[in-house]
Amino acid sequence: MSRFVRPELAALPAYVPGKPAPVGPGGVSYKLSSNENPFPPLPGVLAAVAQACAGMNRYPDMGNTAVIEATAARLGVDHDQLAFGTGSSGVLYHLIQATCTAGDEVIIAWRSFEAYPIAIKLAGATPIMIPLGPGTVHDLDAMLAAITPRTKLIILCTPNNPTGPAITHDDLSRFVESVAGRALVVVDEAYVEFAAAPPRTLELIKDGAPIVSLRTFSKAYGLAGFRVGYGIADPALAAAVRKTAIPFGVSLPAQAAVVASLEAEKELLDRVKLIVERRDVMLARLREIGHDVPDSQANFVWLPLGDRTGAAVDTFSRAGLMVRGYGDDGLRITVGEPEACDLAVEVAAALP
Ligand code: PMP
Repeated sequence: MSRFVRPELAALPAYVPGKPAPVGPGGVSYKLSSNENPFPPLPGVLAAVAQACAGMNRYPDMGNTAVIEATAARLGVDHDQLAFGTGSSGVLYHLIQATCTAGDEVIIAWRSFEAYPIAIKLAGATPIMIPLGPGTVHDLDAMLAAITPRTKLIILCTPNNPTGPAITHDDLSRFVESVAGRALVVVDEAYVEFAAAPPRTLELIKDGAPIVSLRTFSKAYGLAGFRVGYGIADPALAAAVRKTAIPFGVSLPAQAAVVASLEAEKELLDRVKLIVERRDVMLARLREIGHDVPDSQANFVWLPLGDRTGAAVDTFSRAGLMVRGYGDDGLRITVGEPEACDLAVEVAAALP
């Protein structure tokens, strides 16, 4: 039956999810491979979800009205500037569907989020992958130089997954100015809540720059299992993204969880502060023991181990820690429970 499948799919890498946690000595087992939030759901969020489940025989609100109202109020944007989907990966797929067609080019940094090349190729477009510069920051000059008449989108990931550094506001606004409307700039801000001084993307959107911000409830808000993300853009573009979305994508309990999470935002952002503190301790300790770790403004750290990466992933795994390896580049460790962070540093200290 494979003759019915689009031939391009054969060349497409499958998205590889973070592996589940192995069990190490003494039953130690931590999953640090998917940048998940280690804190369990707040009781109020669980209660709101349980209540929503009582209505599961009905479709959810396709317009995501309550979710849009709560998010727009929180961000100070208009309702019609928002487009929701099943995680920000869902919204990214919708955005690419809405903007790209065969023959178009999308400029991305590399390494960056693994889903980008897959989503771009699925639309028949071509990813143009620009290597990160020193310190694993986006090489914005090289990305600018790669613009051609075929360029539709430029995706910037800040903070960058899997390496960690963020783009500054000044660098982003200069970049958008230099792009000068030749392409739409997509700023993937999945980890924005963990960054000390993220670029003020909402300001740029308000000023009318051709830029979209993608955000998610998966990381800082701890709702990865519910799959809710959104894009912020000018109303015409947001409407186009909503048009390409799968109907009723955000489920009933997921909508309830978002509204309850925004109500409990202070508590959730206090948890984010704890994760940031743990991250900074991890960064300092890893550097002390000699690892050349780039800055991280997200909920993970990057060990650039080169061709030692595969063996190091196995060493972490034997200790009960699942981390994520990236070929011969390095590995990414999610900032998790305090014991998991301590153990990760211990294992990193003993690596050959
Ligand atoms: N963007 C980046 C950079 C990510 O790392 C992730 C999650 N791994 C996402 C988007 C997607 O997150 P979600 O679909 O859960 O919102």
